[in-house]
Amino acid sequence: MYDIVILGGGSGGYACALRASQLGLSVVLIEQDKLGGTCLHRGCIPTKALLHAAEVADTAREGEAIGVHSTFNGIDMTKVNEYKDGVIGRLYKGLQGLVKSREITYVEGTGRLVAPNAVEVAGVRYEGKNVVLATGSFARSLPGLEISGRIMTSDQALTMDYVPKSAIILGGGVIGVEFASVWKSFGVDVTIVEGLPRLVPAEDESVSKTMERAYRKRGINFKTGVRFQSATQDDKGVTITLESGESISAELLLVAVGRGPRTEGLGYEEQGVAMDRGFVLANERLATNVPGVFAVGDIVPGLQLAHRGFQQGVFVAEEIGGLKPAAIDESGIPRVTYSEPEIASIGYTETQAKEKFGDIESYEYNLGGNGKSQILGTTGFIKLIRKKSDGVIVGVHMIGARVGELIGEAQVIYNWEGTAEDVAPLVHAHPTQNEALGEAFMALSGKPLHAHA
Ligand SMILES: Cc1cc2nc3c(=O)[nH]c(=O)nc-3n(C[C@H](O)[C@H](O)[C@H](O)COP(=O)(O)OP(=O)(O)OC[C@H]3O[C@@H](n4cnc5c(N)ncnc54)[C@H](O)[C@@H]3O)c2cc1C
Repeated sequence: MYDIVILGGGSGGYACALRASQLGLSVVLIEQDKLGGTCLHRGCIPTKALLHAAEVADTAREGEAIGVHSTFNGIDMTKVNEYKDGVIGRLYKGLQGLVKSREITYVEGTGRLVAPNAVEVAGVRYEGKNVVLATGSFARSLPGLEISGRIMTSDQALTMDYVPKSAIILGGGVIGVEFASVWKSFGVDVTIVEGLPRLVPAEDESVSKTMERAYRKRGINFKTGVRFQSATQDDKGVTITLESGESISAELLLVAVGRGPRTEGLGYEEQGVAMDRGFVLANERLATNVPGVFAVGDIVPGLQLAHRGFQQGVFVAEEIGGLKPAAIDESGIPRVTYSEPEIASIGYTETQAKEKFGDIESYEYNLGGNGKSQILGTTGFIKLIRKKSDGVIVGVHMIGARVGELIGEAQVIYNWEGTAEDVAPLVHAHPTQNEALGEAFMALSGKPLHAHA
């Protein structure tokens, strides 16, 4: 009998295994594919490697404008993939080494929950005082839209060995706009179709507006507030028809309409685990309704992000280890979209904050006043939202090149319930983009430096 049996070796599952072993608990980690899961092999890491290659392509294009002789001569996808796979390979090896060194029993195979305290793999039963479900998610499609040939999800798009001439992207959320950004930089004619009224609809409205302006300027086409109806493909390309009657054709179609929980047929319902539309319901201690069964990562309703999975995995290990960790504040989880421009946010949007707190105040610092942003030739802003009652910051929203790197300070301020007066006296290095965050707080506390009041 193990202390913990973990089903799924992605961000949530392996983080739980590593932390539990540190605490001296005996752990079995079951994985049917590759240790590291979606994030390492088909998600965060490969997409960000492609985005980096895209940034280098843009730099080559833009060199002449600042006096550096350079030209963009095209993309060699074989080399790009070698680079991307090299990054994944090194991280994969490192992770395998970590798991090996921690005395975790690693089992390769497909597991199934056969009792509240047991998972079976190829006829072998692994029993635990606790079971952690961490089976992750899969790319969803729409009714009647079959993934095959030229109609693909991010899984296939990440392994393509050529650059298409044109692409339609169904879905203007994080994954959709990231692929649009990569492909545009690679020279693809891209059109995004989003059913909701704006791109990145989960972000603050002002961020969406600036994103749309930036994408228009980059020549990325998009249609918002229009719904997909049907798609056909032949050996030349794909044509999609929208509910408006309009049709669009391209060489391929990327379906990026969200991710569903991978929970079907794994025995969860049979063992009495409460579910909702395929997601596993867990309380704020990440316990399901079945004693001793926990759930972490993308199968638990909420933000589907790797760092949420890591934190939940660590939390459950500590909970089982008796450390009584503080519950995770879901609104305190940072969100970054790694497109060009980047988007980074934490806490509530202006609309959400108004609903939740009533009287709020917001301030937008334009990156135009920030030296480093001018050097990089980027535009955008940092928007702060605070409660009027006590001045506590309840939202930080940023857009512009590289702003993802600024989320660390923003999240400390948000999670420590900081005010503008707490942050304004802290010295920010000049010239950094980080300084823009400092300036925004200075302005909010009534003493703007490189900004109009
Ligand atoms: C294109 C893309 C880009 C992304 N970019 C980012 C990003 O930049 N930042 C970010 O934070 N997040 C990003 N994500 C999201 C991130 O990848 C997920 O939130 C994260 O991987 C979830 O971790 P998880 O442990 O819940 O699930 P997963 O990583 O999906 O891991 C689940 C594991 O369980 C295994 N498994 C499933 N069923 C069984 C079974 N029956 N038996 C044995 N093993 C099983 C699977 O093989 C898998 O390895 C991205 C996702 C995608 C698709």
